[in-house]
Amino acid sequence: MGKCCSKRQDAQPIGYKKTEIGISSKYSNGGSLDRYTPNPNQVGAQARVDIIRPRPTPSHSQRANRIVVALYKYAARQSTDVSFEKGDRMEVLDDTERDWWKVLHLTTQQEGLIPWNFVAVERSVESEDWFFDDVSRKEAGKLLLVDENPRGTFLVRPSEHTPRGYSLSVKDWEEGRGHHVKHYKIKPLDNGGFYIATNQTFSTLPALVMAYSKNALGLCHVLAKPCPKPQPEMWDLGPELRDKWEMNRNQIQLIRKLGHGNFGEVWYGKWKNQIEVAVKTLKPGTMSSKAFLQEAAIMKQFRHRHLVALYAVCSKEEPIYIVQEYMCNGSLLDFLRTGDGKYMHFEDLIYIAAQVASGMEHLEGKQLIHRDLAARNVLIGEKNKAKICDFGLARVIENDEYCPKQGNKFPLKWTAPEAIVYARFSIKSDVWSFGILLMELFTYGQVPYPGMHGREVIEQVEKGYRMPKPVNHYLPDGVYRLMLQCWDGSPEKRPTFEYLNHYFESFNVTSEIPYLEPPTD
Ligand code: ADP
Ligand code: MG
Repeated sequence: MGKCCSKRQDAQPIGYKKTEIGISSKYSNGGSLDRYTPNPNQVGAQARVDIIRPRPTPSHSQRANRIVVALYKYAARQSTDVSFEKGDRMEVLDDTERDWWKVLHLTTQQEGLIPWNFVAVERSVESEDWFFDDVSRKEAGKLLLVDENPRGTFLVRPSEHTPRGYSLSVKDWEEGRGHHVKHYKIKPLDNGGFYIATNQTFSTLPALVMAYSKNALGLCHVLAKPCPKPQPEMWDLGPELRDKWEMNRNQIQLIRKLGHGNFGEVWYGKWKNQIEVAVKTLKPGTMSSKAFLQEAAIMKQFRHRHLVALYAVCSKEEPIYIVQEYMCNGSLLDFLRTGDGKYMHFEDLIYIAAQVASGMEHLEGKQLIHRDLAARNVLIGEKNKAKICDFGLARVIENDEYCPKQGNKFPLKWTAPEAIVYARFSIKSDVWSFGILLMELFTYGQVPYPGMHGREVIEQVEKGYRMPKPVNHYLPDGVYRLMLQCWDGSPEKRPTFEYLNHYFESFNVTSEIPYLEPPTD
């Protein structure tokens, strides 16, 4: 087993408190790096309760009157928000709310709400085009390797392993090796400065970046151009829908049917003819709207870049609508079988596995059990971006279709034996399902236990049978061994999602052995 990585902090987890870590004298005054650290009170059984409790209000006086600068363009969606262009300056009037800050736009003089993650404090490190607050090593690689980016395109991101440290990721090219990404550790100094090589220290990150932009100083290439930044995630459709997940259904236009699931149809649609959404319609009688609303309130608060965002619900009439983020490439299962996923290389499959493990690591940390983890419940967006959906839904299904004893709709082939037999669902039964999902992934969407019926599978699995290593698909022994660990008969012996995420994040595709303590991160 590898060394566990230190936990990455999510963009804005619920029940987490903000702390500030000054990174240099220049940035320590109002422009310090905001990082999130877990609230130590939020552990164990308390976690689920805490996430629905309002966050303590940060001190208003400390944070108001700052000037922020827009990192992206934003078009207002409702009457209370303000549009802006990249580079626009705004004064923060109130930042006590979680996602929407009240500002005064310094050019248009408009006052209103803006999504907080589209801006950064002026002259802070987050306002730099090259600073990526929330990407992993693998994602950095994906973003940099886009064809349009020239050699020397770079980004700086917080280190996943070293507190107060950063990593510099640079696109490079070499004869015989082609394009690839090199990662350098940026280490912190006790006095607040930084260095990559001990003989060159800098008082701030921008000073370091500036120096390496002029001269490679031993790097693979001089820093040429900041990596283009993808748009940040939004968790609400608009400011008036924040923390209000019941929505009037006439705001939704259903445009095209995307598919049919166990519980109803799924549609591509638009909110107010403007923003793309996916709408799940639930067959009448599938669940009680009270139970569902409680669950929706929890699901709405689970935010992670590898979990599909739940925007709102329409539950006043049947059929209940669940309005979600739209993922343009549909389910992972369809993508692998009939979509562009058919052409994915092994390293893309590893990238998908890492993303699913990362989303599940988040649920593991928050003690939410998925209960229906499978390739059909992973959705694919642009550039092989993967997000888990339907987390929490299985719990509220009232219909017998979901009852283990009733057979066909219950995902027998994905469910751990103790969950089938004793209804003992846990994060460890999710780990079992993740192992099955891995087999679906590496066999490009093959049905698990091909040729076997559900009942036969339960009987055989209880006797110790496990799916063999596929013969007609490439699968390294190490990954197959990992699947077998996920299918350990004793739930407690199965790996954690934290470990699984680390395993796939640091999987070295070229040598086909995961190196768990990479020289750089
Ligand atoms: P299942 O029971 O197979 O999990 P679902 O009802 O969850 O079915 O979804 C049915 C299909 O609708 C999926 O296979 C997928 O193609 C599509 N779909 C579901 N949610 C979304 C979404 N958020 N964005 C795009 N497509 C979606
Ligand atoms: Mg589903």
